[in-house]
This record gives sequence, C-alpha cells and structure tokens, in this order.
Amino acid sequence: MSDTAVTTLAQRARALDVEHSTTDRRGAFELPEGVVYLDGNSLGALSTAARVATADAVSRQWGQQLIRAWNESAWWSAPERVGDRIAELVGAPVGTVVVGDSTTVSLYKAVHAAARLRPDRRVVLTDPDSFPTDVHVTRGVCEQLGLTLELLSPTEAVARLRGSDDVVLASYSQVDYRTGELWDLAALTTALHDAGALACWDLCHSAGVVDVALTAGGADFAVGCGYKYLSGGPGAPAFLFVAPEHLDAFVNPILGWNGHATPFAMSPDHTPADGITRARVGTPPVLGIAALEGALTAYDGLDVADVRRRSLSLTAFFVEALDALGVELPVATPREDARRGSQVSLRHPEAYAVVQALIARGVIGDFREPNIVRLGFAPLYLSHEDALAAAVHLRDVLDGREFERPEHLSRAAVT
Ligand SMILES: *Cc1c(COP(=O)(O)O)cnc(C)c1O
Repeated sequence: MSDTAVTTLAQRARALDVEHSTTDRRGAFELPEGVVYLDGNSLGALSTAARVATADAVSRQWGQQLIRAWNESAWWSAPERVGDRIAELVGAPVGTVVVGDSTTVSLYKAVHAAARLRPDRRVVLTDPDSFPTDVHVTRGVCEQLGLTLELLSPTEAVARLRGSDDVVLASYSQVDYRTGELWDLAALTTALHDAGALACWDLCHSAGVVDVALTAGGADFAVGCGYKYLSGGPGAPAFLFVAPEHLDAFVNPILGWNGHATPFAMSPDHTPADGITRARVGTPPVLGIAALEGALTAYDGLDVADVRRRSLSLTAFFVEALDALGVELPVATPREDARRGSQVSLRHPEAYAVVQALIARGVIGDFREPNIVRLGFAPLYLSHEDALAAAVHLRDVLDGREFERPEHLSRAAVT
C-alpha cells in the first residue's frame, strides 16, 4: 500500500518540480551530498556567490586594498546598497532599508523610534508567542519610556484596538517562528492605523519567501534577519525598514557616528543624516555584509511572487505526502495557503528525539519548545522530490520508533 503511495507521490513530485522549474536555484547553492536541508529558516545554506563574495572581500579588498577599500570597494555605502536590494524583496521603495546590526538591535531602534512618534499614547502591543528577543526588546523599550506593554495575539490585538485611542504601536512577526502561521500584515496594519497606532513588523521568517509588500500593506517599520531564508551566513546583519513618511521624524535611540549627516567632520554635535542613513549606528560588519550581498544574487531575475508560489507548493505537497503515507502527527501549521509561511511544524511528545533521528538520516530540521518538529522549506534550493524524501524518512523514523534510541535523547547547547 504505502510503496504504491510512494510511487504515485514520486510522479507527482517530478511533475511539480517541472511546473516550478523557473524558480529552481539549487545550482547556486553548495549543499552537501545526501542531505535534505530543512533548516534554511534558521541558517540558510551557503551559496557559491556568498562564498566567492566573502573570499573576495577578505583577500582582495581587505588584503590588497586595505583601508582604501572603504572607498574603492564602497564598503562605506554597503549598508544602504544592500538595503536597497532587500527593499525589492519586501516590497519597499529604494532608500528605506538599511542593513548592519542584528535583528535584536534593529528591532530596538524601530520600536523605540516608533514609540516616540506618538508621545501622547501609553500602550504597546506585542505577541506573547513571539520569538523571545522580540518580547524582551519591546518590554525593555516600554520600561525605558514608561509605557505599558500588553501581551496579545494578533487576533486579540485587532479586538483591543477597536475604538481605542491609547495604543502607540504594535510589534508583531508576520510569520510565527514556531507554528509557521502567516498573519495578515495589511489587515492588522489597517486596524492599527484606524486606531491611530503604528505597525512594526518582524519579517525574520517571511523575507525572501513571502511576497511581503510592506508599502502596499502600509507598514510603518519592519526588521528582518539576514541569515535565515536570505542565506547571508552565520550572524549575517539584519535589515531595518522605515516608511518614507517617517524618515524625517525618525530619531535613532543609538546616536552613533554612522548615522550622522557628516560623519567625517568629527563634530561633537549630532546632526542626523538624511533618509535611512540616520538609522545606522557604528562601523558596519563589512565581511558579513559582503556575504549577504553575494547571497542575495540568488534572487536575481526572480519575482518573489513566484518564489512564494514555489514555497506554498513545497509545503502543501509535503503535508499531502504525510497524509498519503499515513503519518498522523498533528500539523501545527495552517493548511490554508493564505495563512502559511514557508515551514511545516508538527507536534510530537518526543519532538527533540524525532528531529535527532531525522538528522541521523540526513534530513536536517530543528526542534522548538515544547513539542515542535520544525521543518523549513527554503524554496530556492529545495525540490518537491526533497519534500517527498523527507516525508518518507519521517514515516520511517516514526514506524521504527527510532526516536526512542538513547543517542537521540541527549540535548546539545544549541537546539
Ligand atoms: C531569528 C529571529 C530573531 C533573531 O534575532 P538575532 O538578533 O539575530 O539573534 C529575532 N526575532 C525573530 C522573530 C526571529 O525569528
């Protein structure tokens, strides 16, 4: 029975791969043999372009050009240049995105600056189920500015906002990092604006895989990660978006010399630079930006809407394969396309050991507390055949109760 199921699914996988062949960028990435990599939402895979760009930045630029590289290789303007490339991917205009700090620091700048745009209001909303750093940062800003933090899901936030006039801003993730649920950015932003509040979005799990449409959705601020789906490499700089209408009033809570109008005048007075440059802080992480800039070339010639279609097809097919193979784990991720990011999360009481058993078979995903097997589908380098292989391995791990093996139970520092 199930062998027939696999044969039928394999035919369907090949047909879907042909249907989505224009968004296949597998050849641009350097994945090890025998690995199905379902963790591109935690650390995107290495691309040849990222490796070459990094080597060039180290050997030629740093090694040969030395300090001249700030001008000759345009290191100084890299935060804005790479920001503009990311702006295209998230539906934002040129001159509104900058890279350079971590997501945590970028979010701090965004939430702090947003809060100060509505000085007469006292309440900030965020999701208790957000990635913890987002909750910590938002709470920290509230404590520093004397504001009240209310922890509400996006759905509860919409109800809370109706008829209210005390909310400064809401800070929400577009995709829930644990369940993969995609929230309606435009609808929540509209609810916020109707109540006179501002919207700050975290795009860590949507940039590069969802057609984000920041401008069309009316977002005021946004941040996102460089090392997840964008494949910028470990610790890659994050990005920060400020809507054009807020740029003039944006006050950077960290007044550094890189955000100064004339940094090399070395003046003790701080005059903020025009535009998104005022969101910069200190000397940018040049090598990290070089890797990210190389990685982003994987998107050259692609429309994010097509990448999104491929992503939805991969995750839908994976769930369909699990159903056909009789894998009965509860799926935490919404099955409706409009509510799903680019991952499939499954619940299992021994989720950690299930993930370890999958990794032993070459299927790399990750575990998230308390009981989530999280499988991310980075569309540029995964095929429907990969999705099927992962589903078959998962069935075999469960049928063979491989998660009960002692070697799969002990936890490393990073899960
Ligand atoms: C990955 C992720 C982060 C990571 O923040 P860092 O500053 O890079 O450690 C933050 N927020 C969300 C929602 C994430 O998914």
